[in-house]
Amino acid sequence: MESLRTLYKVGLGPSSSHTFGPKAAAELVKSRYPEADHFTVILYGSLALTGTGHGTGKSIRSVLDNVQIIPDDQNTPVPHPNTMDFIALKEGVELGSMRIMSIGGGAIEVDGETLPKERDVYHEKNFDEILYRCSHDGISIPEYVRECEGDEIFDYLRYIWRAMADCVEAGLEHTGMLPGPLGITRKAKMLSEMHVEGETPDVTQDRVISSYAFAVAEENACEGTVVTAPTCGAAGVIPAVLYYMHHEMGFSEDAIVDALATAGVIGNVIRTNASISGAEAGCQAEIGSACSMASAAVAQVNGFNLHQIEYAAEVAMEHSLGLTCDPVQGLVQIPCIERCAVAAMRAMNCVSIARFLADTRKISFDNVVDTMYRTGKDISPLYRETSEGGLARLYE
Ligand code: SF4
Repeated sequence: MESLRTLYKVGLGPSSSHTFGPKAAAELVKSRYPEADHFTVILYGSLALTGTGHGTGKSIRSVLDNVQIIPDDQNTPVPHPNTMDFIALKEGVELGSMRIMSIGGGAIEVDGETLPKERDVYHEKNFDEILYRCSHDGISIPEYVRECEGDEIFDYLRYIWRAMADCVEAGLEHTGMLPGPLGITRKAKMLSEMHVEGETPDVTQDRVISSYAFAVAEENACEGTVVTAPTCGAAGVIPAVLYYMHHEMGFSEDAIVDALATAGVIGNVIRTNASISGAEAGCQAEIGSACSMASAAVAQVNGFNLHQIEYAAEVAMEHSLGLTCDPVQGLVQIPCIERCAVAAMRAMNCVSIARFLADTRKISFDNVVDTMYRTGKDISPLYRETSEGGLARLYE
């Protein structure tokens, strides 16, 4: 498995598959064809259907100056639902072409090529193997991450945590409307400052965590700076729970950074053995993954053992199975923003279950990851980031 550096990335929203990935693809094509004076880009699948609302054209144009972008309207079969063909030209003559897939979380693959990857720093291939190594060596998951990646990874994770915290704080400051025709008002600040007579501590916790999740998700919708955790659409979940743990529960920054390491291992297992792409496996692959990662993070902060951490992550994914992706008008707003808040609250509940019931569990984390991927493949394409089904179809 790859470094956590390739999982957590800082960049502009609103969609890692639609903005980070296409931008990385355009940079690769530009580097391969520096003499080209014109590019044609054909977008297929989900990129063709929701690329406009997700900012794909803008991302490509930020790299390539003279470019024509054509969404495929023939439903052409392609190897991945987020596929792009780049054609490089000079004085009207084709220099060459590349087919590139945006595979989730901003990562790309080139058809017919093996891209040079960052070192595969983790030799374990799934959570069972990680569990065996940690148990055998008597180490925690953050210690395992340190053994595999070296001390420097914790500097990187600290940078990621601060980018997450900055995003929460920016989102709590900003007011006004989200971009686009849906007419949605930003709600994070209002939620955060709301005074509710007789509010119980549990309700306060839900409201405050939701306000943090809204803050990040609204920043993302406004093309603000976010961290892929593991994607932009799901970016609000992990910062919400960690910001709460740090600012409301008093856990240290070191504890939060350890929690990010544990969440990263969970995300790494998912992206390696299944998918973190809504276009490939539905929203369960984005929000479900983020909820799993957040649950594991909160379990880590609370000092849970390895089995409790696994159980928290497993429960979070198990109860996200089947979650569809149907962004209204192709924007990362409805249902994405509320979905981040709901997943953050659910992560806290999963940790509560893991606290008491880890010894009774039957389903392993690897098992539920496999199930998520199979379920994603079975979900109709209408519910995999095409905006052709569900809310996107019925809400006008
Ligand atoms: S519905 Fe889920 S997977 Fe789809 S764009 Fe929104 S957050 Fe991403």
